[in-house]
Amino acid sequence: MKAAPDAQKRLLDLAELDSVADRLAHRRRTLPELAEIDESSKQYARLATQVIEAETEAGDLAREQTKAESDVDAVRTRADRDQKRLDSGAVTSPRDLASLQSEIASLHRRQGDLEEVVLEIMERREAADSKVRDLVAKRDETAAARSAAEDRRDAALKEIDKEAADVQGRRTGVAAEIPADLLKLYEKLREQYGVGAAMLRHGRCQGCKVALSIAEMNRIKAAPHDEVLRCEECRRILVRTPESGL
Ligand SMILES: [Zn+2]
Repeated sequence: MKAAPDAQKRLLDLAELDSVADRLAHRRRTLPELAEIDESSKQYARLATQVIEAETEAGDLAREQTKAESDVDAVRTRADRDQKRLDSGAVTSPRDLASLQSEIASLHRRQGDLEEVVLEIMERREAADSKVRDLVAKRDETAAARSAAEDRRDAALKEIDKEAADVQGRRTGVAAEIPADLLKLYEKLREQYGVGAAMLRHGRCQGCKVALSIAEMNRIKAAPHDEVLRCEECRRILVRTPESGL
């Protein structure tokens, strides 16, 4: 293939722009915010589950407390009723009086026991409510952290998009100066090797960094200026410049 030396040199500008585009694409894929968002999302899901579990536990305790309080009320009502009967003087038989007094005493003990149960449930409920509050706060913090990371990711992507559009614009301009057949070869090689063209610099291919043999250098020296050369080692288009060492 033949191409004017200037057109060949433009391939190096194109390769440079393509490598900038590759770096931008890599940056886009590896933004630290992406891992951060992923981690926050997992943490959020874990905490959301824990909040539901803690809320269920607190709800169960609230119902348990209502039930225990109504047990206390029932015993208290019964004791009050017995007390009124006792105070009314309607019960006169010593045996019935003794039985009533004994029942009242027993109901008071029962009430005391049940009130202990209520207190114990209240303590557990307080701890459960406090756990819910802690978990909700942590969950909301995680949501805020994720949202902040998403904002940073969006800002970074916007910046990358802007740079990529700029590179793309410059690339279109450079590509327009390269003959179609040479550009086609470059694109094919870029697809195969990631980089389509490299400079021959001080006797070394800048694509694979391999130093050319004396025989190879002599072959290149003898080649016409418009001949499109390829690196024997990496097959990329080898572009001659005044720095080539020829
Ligand atoms: Zn090479």
